[in-house]
Amino acid sequence: MNFKATDVFVSGGGIAGMAAAIAFERAGFSVICADPVAPVITRQDNGADLRTTAFLQPSQTFLQSIGIWDHLAKHAVPLEVMRIVDAGGAITPPAIRVMKEFQASDISNQPFGWNVPNWLSRKELLKSLNDAKDATFLPGVNTVKVFTRESEARVTLSDGQKIRARLIIAADGSSSYVRKNAQIGVTTKRFGQKALAFVVTHPIPHENVSTEIHRRGGPFTLVPLPDHQGTPSSAIVWMETSKHAARLIEMDRNSFETEMNARSCGILGPLTLETKRTVWPIISQLADRFSAQRIALVGEAAHAIPPIGAQGLNMSLEDIKTLVDLAIKADDIGSKSVLDAYHKARITDVRFRVGGISLLNQTSIGPSQILRDIRASGIGALHGLAPLRKTLMKMGLGVRS
Ligand SMILES: Cc1cc2nc3c(=O)[nH]c(=O)nc-3n(C[C@H](O)[C@H](O)[C@H](O)COP(=O)(O)OP(=O)(O)OC[C@H]3O[C@@H](n4cnc5c(N)ncnc54)[C@H](O)[C@@H]3O)c2cc1C
Repeated sequence: MNFKATDVFVSGGGIAGMAAAIAFERAGFSVICADPVAPVITRQDNGADLRTTAFLQPSQTFLQSIGIWDHLAKHAVPLEVMRIVDAGGAITPPAIRVMKEFQASDISNQPFGWNVPNWLSRKELLKSLNDAKDATFLPGVNTVKVFTRESEARVTLSDGQKIRARLIIAADGSSSYVRKNAQIGVTTKRFGQKALAFVVTHPIPHENVSTEIHRRGGPFTLVPLPDHQGTPSSAIVWMETSKHAARLIEMDRNSFETEMNARSCGILGPLTLETKRTVWPIISQLADRFSAQRIALVGEAAHAIPPIGAQGLNMSLEDIKTLVDLAIKADDIGSKSVLDAYHKARITDVRFRVGGISLLNQTSIGPSQILRDIRASGIGALHGLAPLRKTLMKMGLGVRS
């Protein structure tokens, strides 16, 4: 039987999978990456990922080190300020009760992060992957069989190709085939919630401020984008109960804009919808282990969390950085010692973040007016305590100091 040999096989070419493939190729390894779906690299096409990622400082440093950042930087908006708003009072339409601003300059001479639309990240990653000499990207095929033994892993793809690899990176998302095949269990929590993601324009400039407005159902977050045809623009993630989200998706454009403008409390003036509305399930999920024989899990194959505090993909990039750093120093990149060290290096931090974000999300959904009142006074109290405020901001960034 004809097996193609490679150092690394990456199952999944989402943002995490493509970043992993590029990072390993840059580190001197041969890589094959497969995904059943070709990345959508325009904003208007069906399947476009209208979410954005706020790449936090450690992610930006890592992307710089693998030669990607310069391509993303031209699309990025720096996030200088995070504004947290509570609009959780009993009155309708929602009104602002508490508004506090957290400045990046409080803890660093750099912004909190840089916001880039996901479809543009996919476009730049795909170009770098296709340009990489020792990497092969196979769109349109998926992993259908994985067999591992102590010395290597064998993969069969849906088009019949067979691959031998020293290491398999499972970047095939929250329902990861590779993870299931390796019999790694997961703990999953469902919140009965969905997130709508879309792009708007507005008359008031965002001034590089990211704004999170809390009410029941979940936060409504406006993240700065570059101007769209000369008009200030933001990406929105609007979290709601699944029932309400389904209603919002079905609404005609005018009714939706009316509802969205009430929910935004007019903070950037009247918002105009500029794209389709996309919808994303909200879960938190943690794999029991991040490795198995010849296999490392990264990204949503290992962990998924509600989109609060821009943690998800940033944790995934930290997974990839950790794995590459260990692989570079090893004689055998897929050995038990490398994979055990990878699991050990990541599990505690990821478990802490998954737990913390899940708890925050749970409190943001609740219908209880008392809880919402506690949250409103908590934001004010936290903001008023400078040392606690700075420590929490650093923890959120993943900055070690
Ligand atoms: C609304 C929203 C907003 C977010 N905002 C942020 C943010 O600001 N900052 C942040 O850090 N994170 C954010 N996140 C999280 C982030 O978007 C995700 O963590 C990230 O996109 C997931 O990337 P991934 O590559 O791990 O998984 P996926 O994007 O799910 O990619 C998995 C890939 O695997 C492929 N695949 C599936 N099965 C197979 C198979 N058998 N063989 C081969 N390939 C397969 C799929 O086709 C897919 O392309 C947000 C998430 C949501 C829902």
